Amino acid sequence: MSTNEHERVNYIDGDWKKPESGRTLSVINPADQKEIGTVHLSGKEDVKSAVETAEEAYHEWRRTPVTKRIQYLFHFKNLLEEHIDELAKVITNESGKTYKESVGEIRRGIENVENACGMPTMMQGFNNEDIATGIDEHMIRQPLGVVAAITPFNFPVMIPLWFLPYAIAAGNSFILKPSEKVPMSARYIIALLQKTDLPAGVVQLVNGDKEAVDELLENPSVKAISFVGSTAVARQIYSKGTLHGKRVQAQGGAKNMVVVLPDADLNMTTRIVVDSAFGCAGQRCLANSLAITVGDAKKPFTDAIKEKAAGLKVGYGLDKSTEMGPVITPDSRQRVEQFIETGENEGGKILVDGRGKKVENYGDGNWIYPTIMDEISPDSSLAKTEVFGPLFGLMHVDTVEDAIQLINSQSYGNMACLFTSSGAAARQFRYEANAGNIGINIGVAAPMAYYPFSGWKDSFFGDLHAQGHHAVEFYTQTKVVIERWSRDWGRTF
Ligand code: NAD
Repeated sequence: MSTNEHERVNYIDGDWKKPESGRTLSVINPADQKEIGTVHLSGKEDVKSAVETAEEAYHEWRRTPVTKRIQYLFHFKNLLEEHIDELAKVITNESGKTYKESVGEIRRGIENVENACGMPTMMQGFNNEDIATGIDEHMIRQPLGVVAAITPFNFPVMIPLWFLPYAIAAGNSFILKPSEKVPMSARYIIALLQKTDLPAGVVQLVNGDKEAVDELLENPSVKAISFVGSTAVARQIYSKGTLHGKRVQAQGGAKNMVVVLPDADLNMTTRIVVDSAFGCAGQRCLANSLAITVGDAKKPFTDAIKEKAAGLKVGYGLDKSTEMGPVITPDSRQRVEQFIETGENEGGKILVDGRGKKVENYGDGNWIYPTIMDEISPDSSLAKTEVFGPLFGLMHVDTVEDAIQLINSQSYGNMACLFTSSGAAARQFRYEANAGNIGINIGVAAPMAYYPFSGWKDSFFGDLHAQGHHAVEFYTQTKVVIERWSRDWGRTF
């Protein structure tokens, strides 16, 4: 290992390189605030060099048969499986989530690698013979060229894998710009990919922040951008990327509501909703952050969730008994605390207060324990703003129609959930709720790899989502060929 290996964080042209910009950030373990690494940030020139290499590699890669392209992914999948324990520890140490949650996200990522191995059939086109006598028409799918993904901190392995496998299986070359808060997980998976002997330049890793992203958005050789992050940035990325003539899919933030009907199974509902609200310390884009109880569900659900949330074991994610880890940064903790204060000022009533608590031996961590606030007013900022932390709100209405109306008045549309034993209520809900991912007796309605991750409204900007057939369409362009071939030419011309 060379002395400056930790500086060589970018993977360009099949080798690890040190970014030229000279700017660095510390990588911090959220459980104890100790520095666990440094990330060197890329400047424009670093990104330009990655794009040039990707473009060169693309010309060979798109000519590589799809059946051969997916062999690298089979190998990659096996390597991910073999290294799942070590990789999960890397995720936990830089993101704060529990070991079990880290393993879970790797599994969801692997599903996408597996699914992309179906590319030989998924990217097939269609055809008609004799659209006129002796004339045939075909639609074929071709890759776009160089494509890039910009990803957030909260799923440092799964989210890059929403994009990378589909992009390269379809014949594109791919650039990943991971969150600067969690660069080590991305580095780990790219190092595994390197072991597959994937040709140099097909996948590149550039670490960085806005400066690197701006170059990706402006560089004319980058044909498509996949983004996942907060709504404010997603909106900017979508506007700027499309202005520069690129395809863009930009997934944004969320404020996910869960409706609890009086006929719901109380034990199951409480267990699932607590997991959704406080799993990953509330830092999932599919976290339930507000419950709307209907009619008589109010008291039993409020009592049950209060008890269950207050009993969660908070701590360092690698301690086996830990059920909830810290939030990502001290700023995030302060932001959640600020929301609790704002909620109180807006008339909310604190039932479980997670402020001011510390975990033994991890006193410096970004701890904020599960917090539950009742009587959230539909007009309050807490009802409308993404908190992204372990703060769960309760609202109460009389009918399922009132609950659906509250959901539909939201600017976000990532997910809406219903807990009930009524098929009729479930059908009404899935038909009328304006959100792209619906859970019925499910708290985290995360689509499997072979379904699109269907955010709506301010949770998504674009047309084609991540995963499944949408990914195949996003990373390919259609070409239609109309052709005439005739055995009679010798006679007719
Ligand atoms: P973020 O928006 O701060 O950062 C996401 C990415 O954008 C990072 O790679 C970051 O370096 C880059 N970035 C940040 N500011 C930028 C700017 N001004 N210009 C260009 N690039 C910029 O998001 P985060 O804090 O890392 O992640 C949390 C957010 O992501 C939450 O809002 C969450 O809901 C959302 N999220 C959404 C989904 C989804 O599927 N819709 C999934 C996961 C996370």
